[in-house]
Amino acid sequence: MSKELISRIEELRNQIRKHDYEYYVLNKPSVSDREYDKLYNELEELENKYPKYVTSDSPTQRVGSDLTKEFSPVNHTQPMLSLSNTYSEEEVYAFDKRVKESLDLDLNSDVEYVAELKIDGVSVSLCYKNGRLVYGATRGDGFTGEDVTPNIKTIKSVPLVIENKLIEKYGLINFEVRGEIFMTLDGFTKLNLEREKNSEKLFANPRNSAAGTIKLQNPALVASRPLDIFVYYLLAENAGFKQHSENLDLLKKLGFKVNSNYKLCRNITEVLRFCKQWETKRGELPYEIDGVVIKINNLNYQKRLGSIAKSPRWAVAYKFKAIQAQTKLNKITWQVGRTGALTPVAELDPVFLAGSTISRATLHNIDEIRRKDIREGDIVIIEKGGDVIPKVVEVVLSEAQKRFEPAEMPSYCPVCNSKLFKPENEVALYCENSECSAQVKGRILHFADRGAMDIEGLGEAVVNIFVDKGYLKSYADIYYLKERRSELVSLERFGEKKVDNLFSAIERSKDRPFGKVLFALGIRYVGSGAAQKIASYFNSIDELITADENQIEEIYEIGPSISRSIKKFFADEHNINLIEKMKKAGLNFQSEKPSVDTNILGGKSFVVTGTLELFTREGIKDKIISLGGKVLSSISKNTDFLIAGESAGSKLDKAEKLGVKILSETEFLKMIEQ
Ligand code: NAD
Repeated sequence: MSKELISRIEELRNQIRKHDYEYYVLNKPSVSDREYDKLYNELEELENKYPKYVTSDSPTQRVGSDLTKEFSPVNHTQPMLSLSNTYSEEEVYAFDKRVKESLDLDLNSDVEYVAELKIDGVSVSLCYKNGRLVYGATRGDGFTGEDVTPNIKTIKSVPLVIENKLIEKYGLINFEVRGEIFMTLDGFTKLNLEREKNSEKLFANPRNSAAGTIKLQNPALVASRPLDIFVYYLLAENAGFKQHSENLDLLKKLGFKVNSNYKLCRNITEVLRFCKQWETKRGELPYEIDGVVIKINNLNYQKRLGSIAKSPRWAVAYKFKAIQAQTKLNKITWQVGRTGALTPVAELDPVFLAGSTISRATLHNIDEIRRKDIREGDIVIIEKGGDVIPKVVEVVLSEAQKRFEPAEMPSYCPVCNSKLFKPENEVALYCENSECSAQVKGRILHFADRGAMDIEGLGEAVVNIFVDKGYLKSYADIYYLKERRSELVSLERFGEKKVDNLFSAIERSKDRPFGKVLFALGIRYVGSGAAQKIASYFNSIDELITADENQIEEIYEIGPSISRSIKKFFADEHNINLIEKMKKAGLNFQSEKPSVDTNILGGKSFVVTGTLELFTREGIKDKIISLGGKVLSSISKNTDFLIAGESAGSKLDKAEKLGVKILSETEFLKMIEQ
């Protein structure tokens, strides 16, 4: 396989991992599910074509992890898997054929399926012992979830105790139930209205708000949010049923909430009828669904088929197309982001789409506008991939229609009026005035975001007011807002309680680890993953400030564009002053040192190469870092160890030449077990 293909596979994996983190952990996706699925399918196709390059840590081999490390871990009795997706009639028929082939059934025979609505929420496992709920856990990485029992207990439709009579009748001493926690559209709209009133950040969609809510540390707050659950699996040794549909009936009898819109289908043609029916009717439901889950009804067949790495072979999801709407594009405006990049935005005639009224959609960049030939005054189709900002898919043209001229790129910043700049090789235009209020607002919002300093109450509306009033000129000023307490309290819709809550959130943010602080600074190209790696390599921000580019690039997966950008950021005296100001305020600019007993690797540097058997790539890196070691991307004479898996290539040769000590995975394990 060519070098380009290998690097495309790596690129796809990295992009998918980033999206997984944003979606599962931050509940803040930056692309639509469709766009995500496109990247995923491309990776899957490449891996199917070149199976030799499938690695155990590829996103195709493990479920997207929502682990936050903020809750106690729970080991699942059986893995909580994802589902394979289908998007068309042909793919559903192909699934049915695969099922029959694997079960050695006549291809003309009928297999019974249960077709269920695919609720767009977040899956949980509920474990019962002696008829009592003992814990509720999230999916996590599929093997280990997080214990969110107090939050689950706030959901009224989760039975905490099951009637003794039933337990005995069905021999259900210990059993597990799996289901989807979701928020109704109504509940979601009310919650967002409330948040808007309190100037809090809005949730993008019901799925994100359900996923965010179940991970809150405050059960009282969870109880105030309208969460609900539909359950869809019963895992019980003794129930003794032979069919999934019987299990669903039993779940109802036990007092669980099972979605009533499922259908026992005699064959795959009936299943497809069900899929199509719900694809058109989905808008009538009071909650969001993103497809249909098709499950083989016969539990013995399910057992025989088993699972592949991340999904069962006996079930598949039929994914609906994204919901679209048609409206008029009145104007194209330009929005300035935190890096100064301008993004064109379509100002639309308000239209209702997938649970909310839309009046703006992104147009990405000028190339996209030209490619789709989108002009002011056009009738356009917009789409929301179930989440995030809607986008303009295409223009609807009628023959006799007179159109406006194509949009021009602006020459001056629409916010601060400074001359715009277009870097070579980039599509975007930039406002270079770092004091432009749009950039300042963007940087502060990024800083306060959940994935960065996590300052609840410092959302868009509040930041706009604080910057416009001159209270915040930079993110460092956040930590000096206290000096303006009386001014803040007297602001419209503020008051003592709200201001005090904000101050507490600001105070709490001082405990955020160095990696999060580094990410919050908003250094170009330094995403949360890169920030984490850099923070665990350098002891403090001062070490990073004085490091040269080569030293920064030694870190695993940190390349020249990141190191250059870091150097540029710290070369600006203004940024150094901000850091000094934040240091004085007590922010965390030092790496956490592993405690004495976990600092087994004591600063030793490692490079990892080849295909690993005992660890995933991410897993071994996390292990090294958690034990006080450093992970580098390339071998030099300063490297302490190379961990070499199967088919190690040039790195192994180089390590041998330079006399770097080479370890197998087993030797590494021995080393850390001492
Ligand atoms: P999934 O959501 O496609 O399907 C599996 C899940 O369906 C199960 O875990 C369960 O939670 C849920 N489900 C709902 N109703 C069910 C029912 N009746 N029976 C069984 N399960 C039911 O899989 P996933 O692994 O959770 O997520 C992958 C999908 O998430 C992707 O295909 C993509 O659409 C989306 N995603 C998007 C982004 C992004 O950045 N936009 C990132 C990661 C994932």
